[in-house]
Amino acid sequence: MKTSIEGLLEYLIVKALAGKENVIKALMDYFVYSESPSIVALKYGLSKHQVRGYAQRIVEKTGSVTRAKVILKYATPIVLKIKPITKKLNSSFIKCLLCGEELPLQIVEDHIRKKHTSIVEDYLQSTVELMRKNIVVDRL
Ligand SMILES: [Zn+2]
Repeated sequence: MKTSIEGLLEYLIVKALAGKENVIKALMDYFVYSESPSIVALKYGLSKHQVRGYAQRIVEKTGSVTRAKVILKYATPIVLKIKPITKKLNSSFIKCLLCGEELPLQIVEDHIRKKHTSIVEDYLQSTVELMRKNIVVDRL
């Protein structure tokens, strides 16, 4: 079983691989800079409802808002360097560049988690190492 830190990192890494860096940035602004859900939503093309939903998931994963803040602060700059393995085809379909499958947006993250486990694990390890070494690039 994964620790709460790894659970959150994996969640962020899968989002990055899926090309949803706006969600990662939104979470960073919400937790680390304490911006309101409506401002964050506007900035990153999400709905307030979505921002609250993502934030809720994060708190569930880490068990506390404080812990979520600290992890996001140090992980976000690293995770945002991950290159997406997907390409958007239109507003509802995405192509996985690793296996060539075309998928509905909603199941992309599931696809990455199930079919491309090793790449997620590799990024998880390297992110944890970078965080440990405290090689954190300056703020976004
Ligand atoms: Zn794939």
